[in-house]
Amino acid sequence: MVMNVRGYAAHSVDSPLGLFSFVRRDPRANDVVIEILYAGVCHSDIHNVRNDWGNAKHPMVPGHEIIGRVTAVGAEVTRFQVGDAVGVGCMVDSCQHCKACAGGLEQYCENGNTLTYNDVDRHDGMTTHGGYSERIVVSDRFVVKVPQGLDLAAAAPLLCAGITTWSPLRHWKVGPGSKVAVVGLGGLGHMALKLAKALGADVTLFSRSPGKEDDARRLGADRVVISTDATQMQAVQGHFDLIIDTVPYVHDVNPYVATLALSGNLVLVGYLGPLEPAVNSAPLVLGRKSVAGSVIGGIAETQEMLDFCGQHGITSDIELIRMQEINEAYERMLQSDVKYRFVIDIASLRA
Ligand code: NAP
Ligand code: ZN
Repeated sequence: MVMNVRGYAAHSVDSPLGLFSFVRRDPRANDVVIEILYAGVCHSDIHNVRNDWGNAKHPMVPGHEIIGRVTAVGAEVTRFQVGDAVGVGCMVDSCQHCKACAGGLEQYCENGNTLTYNDVDRHDGMTTHGGYSERIVVSDRFVVKVPQGLDLAAAAPLLCAGITTWSPLRHWKVGPGSKVAVVGLGGLGHMALKLAKALGADVTLFSRSPGKEDDARRLGADRVVISTDATQMQAVQGHFDLIIDTVPYVHDVNPYVATLALSGNLVLVGYLGPLEPAVNSAPLVLGRKSVAGSVIGGIAETQEMLDFCGQHGITSDIELIRMQEINEAYERMLQSDVKYRFVIDIASLRA
């Protein structure tokens, strides 16, 4: 039995996304079949569609912030039942036996994890397609439970923007007394503010956009620093234990390194590639500072983050859009004009 699915795909780097029909695999014994309700729109979707990372395979159905309901489970699935509200993030598989996988770090699988879209299924060789679609079939190990009480549409961005900022906050042990800064107030940035605040940190936003101050404070920032204002930058020199930098494009990180305290860490989660201008090692050496990176988070850690969000009532601030509005949403994201995550109502695809 072949499962025909409709979605929205990019057919090339520069064509608008449009309707696309494709086939999902027959569910395997450990698979969960999910009717997708909502899909968040991540800046990575734009990078992938436009081949910014050099590995785009078209036609491509993006979407890795997926919330839906279970409609069927394979014979070996015990943790999920028909009707459950579930989530799927950026990965749908990994080798399951390397050291990283054994340690719950599937995102760093030594044999390469399988991404939710723009990748190839490691068992049957089919192209993976993401959340801008009616249904998805995913191994139960890569499905997470959505806590009761969370708005399902607003919870979708937790599956990427949430976990991507949660993982470094946890790895670098942020808690009460930590001084955390976030660079860029978009999808990842606004989740970083909320999560860092809920963990008890003192939180600062670095933004280029003066109009975002009030929102930043409402989202959890104790302070907003306009990064283009030298006086404001000077006022926070040597201040932060952890900076999460969400800027999607190449930019000068040296001014942010200067705001790190002794032994502070600046973690890049946005831009992938050589840093220009180069990072000056002197402040790193003389202040035992690091410039690090981090990618999404493991599956157990994703469940931990969702449960934390359930307990604290944390979701994303979203603009719900119809599938047909996706191209306009991309253009607005490219202008940093999103408050603070677009989420697609997949019902619009079925209508
Ligand atoms: P987004 O919603 O578009 O937000 C990015 C924010 O960065 C903007 O709102 C803007 O904030 C700031 N910004 C944009 N262009 C800039 C520039 N040229 N210079 C300085 N600041 C700029 O994007 P997102 O969905 O949060 O994603 C952010 C990045 O993280 C993307 O590159 C995405 O691919 C990546 N990502 C990484 C992971 C991972 O696992 N590491 C996971 C998901 C996404 P202000 O207006 O406040 O300045
Ligand atoms: Zn993402």
